Amino acid sequence: MQTDFTIAQLADPEIKAADEILRTCVHCGFCTATCPTYVLLGDELDGPRGRIYMIKNLLESDAPAPAKVVKHIDRCLTCLACMTTCPASVDYQHLVDRARVRIEATFARPLADRWLRALLAFVVPNPKLFRLSLIGAKLAGPFKALLPGRLKGMVAMAPASIPAAAAIDRPQVVAAEGKRLRRVALLTGCAQQVLRPEINEATARLLARRGCEVIIAEGAGCCGALVQHLGREAEAQTQAKANIAAWEKVANEDGGLDAIVINASGCGTTVKDYGWMLQHDPAWAERAAKISGLATDVTEIMAELGLGDVSAGQRPAVTYHSACSMQHGQQILEQPKKLLRDAGFEVLDPLEGHLCCGSAGTYNILQPELAGRLLQRKIENLKKTGGRIIATGNIGCLVQIAGGLADSGEGGGEGGGGGGIAVVHTVELLDWATGGPKPTGLP
Ligand code: SF4
Ligand code: SF4
Repeated sequence: MQTDFTIAQLADPEIKAADEILRTCVHCGFCTATCPTYVLLGDELDGPRGRIYMIKNLLESDAPAPAKVVKHIDRCLTCLACMTTCPASVDYQHLVDRARVRIEATFARPLADRWLRALLAFVVPNPKLFRLSLIGAKLAGPFKALLPGRLKGMVAMAPASIPAAAAIDRPQVVAAEGKRLRRVALLTGCAQQVLRPEINEATARLLARRGCEVIIAEGAGCCGALVQHLGREAEAQTQAKANIAAWEKVANEDGGLDAIVINASGCGTTVKDYGWMLQHDPAWAERAAKISGLATDVTEIMAELGLGDVSAGQRPAVTYHSACSMQHGQQILEQPKKLLRDAGFEVLDPLEGHLCCGSAGTYNILQPELAGRLLQRKIENLKKTGGRIIATGNIGCLVQIAGGLADSGEGGGEGGGGGGIAVVHTVELLDWATGGPKPTGLP
């Protein structure tokens, strides 16, 4: 694609990087077919190629972002299916990030919109505030039908019961079982530890069983993905720097640090991107790149370590839902399924597995109509497999799909229950098969 940036504009390293990305696009349009919003709406402006054109015009102009551009960029899920499909390897992820930062800086959103986005950015990354907000949402549950669309989405996010905080989410060291083979840090995250604390517990047990000393580092918290997708770049960088400093401290201790293990693929995509995020910050660029190099999804490290002894017994079939951040963001395709098979589960693949479930961070709250249509489609495809257990590697998908199943009379919130279809994290099943407890809610 030809671009027309001025020399002055190109002096900004962020614009220079965007220019390089834009120039790789050859307008072939292959990406449109796999873009969920294009599939739903059939509008070129709601597909990647149309958005790339709009981003080019937005960045070339020094004027505030036009409302029409904001509408179509806001509708993008950041699912990155377009990057998997693109034959020219266009780095859409960093391009849309730049557009969001420009929109945030120049577009005056309606007050209610600004308020909602600020609230999400403030509350969700903080587990204590998030837990309180879920309690409030639960109380508002009976009045859900009376609420406007976006608030309804927030209330729907509240689980039927809000689990107590788990001990694993506090700073600590979990000793390796037997000889220590690796020393790893586990990102315990933000929303996940509130919504389903069993995931971090199962991850720590699984890693320790295979010889990992697991460290929950003091000062590590939200990865920054949530605010990053809202265009709040400075906040995302602050959160990234806090994590980098926390993990560096661990790395400087005796024994060093072999890996940073992440069990929410949305967070994994972001931590692996810290190097890019801070590349123009001389004080942090090298440190961020080092931390990104240590980041690994729990299924990547478990594929290296192997499961070890798997307990005997027949296991049910499992439908595997690959989160967009897992398959498109990190290109992790086979490891989770192979591990499940190694653990004795039959693995079922749903149709249209490349399409987003509509969760996408806070997308289901900010774009409830489109998210709802994608969820409906996902639920139909998942049900068609016939599996009564769905496994996924991202908390956002887990909660979204469990909510969709509950609405369709086939579940009882995350973790299933009620005799319906259960939705669990992949590591919970792997932990169960290697000596851990049966995941909550399994039929
Ligand atoms: S597939 Fe890639 S090169 Fe083709 S239009 Fe889409 S982004 Fe551009
Ligand atoms: S990130 Fe997803 S929704 Fe956005 S343009 Fe790419 S495929 Fe479409």
